[in-house]
Amino acid sequence: MDIGLLTIPGMPRSLVLSHPCQRRAISRRDLEPKDVCQEQDPSDHHGERPSRRSSEWTRSGAPRREPGGSAMISGRASLIRAKPDLCVVAPAHDEEQNLPILVRELLAVMAQASVAIQILLVDDGSRDRTAEVIRQLVADHPEVQGLVLARNFGHQAAISVGLRHAKGRAIAVMDADLQDRPVDLLALYRRWQTGADVVYAVRRSRQEGMFMRAAYRVFYRMVARTANIPIPVDSGDFCVMDARFVAQLNQLPERLRYVRGLRAWLGGRQVAVPVDRDARRAGVPQYTLFKLFRLAADGLISFSYVPLQVASIIGFFVSATAFMGALTVLVWKFMGLLPSGAGTATIALSVLFLGGLQLLTIGILGEYVGRVFDEVKRRPVAVIAEVLQHENGHD
Ligand code: UDP
Ligand code: MG
Repeated sequence: MDIGLLTIPGMPRSLVLSHPCQRRAISRRDLEPKDVCQEQDPSDHHGERPSRRSSEWTRSGAPRREPGGSAMISGRASLIRAKPDLCVVAPAHDEEQNLPILVRELLAVMAQASVAIQILLVDDGSRDRTAEVIRQLVADHPEVQGLVLARNFGHQAAISVGLRHAKGRAIAVMDADLQDRPVDLLALYRRWQTGADVVYAVRRSRQEGMFMRAAYRVFYRMVARTANIPIPVDSGDFCVMDARFVAQLNQLPERLRYVRGLRAWLGGRQVAVPVDRDARRAGVPQYTLFKLFRLAADGLISFSYVPLQVASIIGFFVSATAFMGALTVLVWKFMGLLPSGAGTATIALSVLFLGGLQLLTIGILGEYVGRVFDEVKRRPVAVIAEVLQHENGHD
């Protein structure tokens, strides 16, 4: 089922960024026979080309042609374009300063380890020059591809769209602000090579302030306690997943993408690797406390009925208390112990108390109903305005 991205028939799948500086010699890696073979092996599930149905709703019409450039997908290009060992999806919102460092460090680490890498940068409606920076990076490096979303759809939506476009034997998700270290990514990848569906990072240390660290602690533990599946504590989205696993993840039909929860829900061989989380290299965190709260609510509500059960339990206790209170008042009345004039304040407070509880439980119900409403509308997870790829890049 196509879940996240709308297809408009006849609309081109991708826009190709072409620029005079893109015309470069075919690199040795491009011509490696193993890649060509794997691309041609029909039994290789990882080599699956993206189905048209999983295409995206692109804003622009025709492939863009810039001076000196050409819209591509030539025969030669399809031959040299092979699937990378690892495709890294990095969502970016206002990360103009971090992206060049991210690409440089990732390419350096992976080149040293001889891992053929593709970097898929997803611009999630940035207000700064992130989209232009991605364009330049795509023009400069065949390993870099870009998706520019039509507006800010949120971190989880940006990851989900990236995962739909990612092609590689293994697919990784990491933040664009370098809080997730490229060397750790290599460690996760190496662990994946020894056999696993998912290798996820567990943060053993964080660099945020005390308040945010406490907020994260509470958030992870609350979700882990209440979820009806085991969601690992202190693990974010930083992970390496097998391509088959990602194909299954992409099949999950919900619009509300709490990716780390969906990842846990799928099960399989999941391995934790402890990592330290660095401080942001530049810029300010995009997750405000409010966004973090929304993420926590998404996690809680997508994977747990506990909030609804809490509402029922509160209702049960309040009713039981009211019943006992009524009995007590009746007994007092018959025994002549009821003080005259008593009750006005009690009634007022009870009404307020019950009114508050009712609003609270309606609110909890509303959180679920709102999400059901979002799901039934079946809108795409995000709208892609542009797909950018280098002339000699992976397809
Ligand atoms: N991000 C995004 N869309 C958003 C908010 C954040 O794509 O609406 C990206 C952001 O650029 C970063 C990652 O998600 O690469 C994590 O965000 P951030 O660093 O603000 O979160 P934190 O690390 O503080 O949890
Ligand atoms: Mg961050």
